[in-house]
Amino acid sequence: MYIVSACLLGENVKYSGGNNYSEAVCRFLEDKEYCPVCPEVAGGLSVPRTPCERLDNRVINKLGEDVTREFLEGARLTEESVLRRYALEDIEGAILKANSPSCGYGTIHDGTFTGPLVERDGVFGERLRALGIRVYNENNITELIGEKI
Ligand code: SF4
Repeated sequence: MYIVSACLLGENVKYSGGNNYSEAVCRFLEDKEYCPVCPEVAGGLSVPRTPCERLDNRVINKLGEDVTREFLEGARLTEESVLRRYALEDIEGAILKANSPSCGYGTIHDGTFTGPLVERDGVFGERLRALGIRVYNENNITELIGEKI
């Protein structure tokens, strides 16, 4: 089973009200079991919503409002909900949206809302790293496809 960011499947949960549909991700998951998640919506944030970024030990939105609680709660609830349904050993990996303040893994935006990336995980990505789950994104999914062929 793979955990997957719902926006990569075409679900309109992105901050803009749109999605991040990825044909490569959908093709990869075609014959597999998967569990779509959106930690930001799980944390009570609306669609659409003001874009957010991690800054030091907080998450803020572009208006400067602190949304740390929603992000932490959303990541916690999402992890709990997945682990209620699946044993950790049955989770083969996760395919999460690159650079998101929630779903990012390895790199995320730097908190200035101007585009640069820093080496850090999103709030949900961080939880998956702690669980030892392998995380891919829509850009490096080919790595995973290569392994499975
Ligand atoms: S929190 Fe994750 S799943 Fe939800 S819109 Fe952002 S990147 Fe997509």
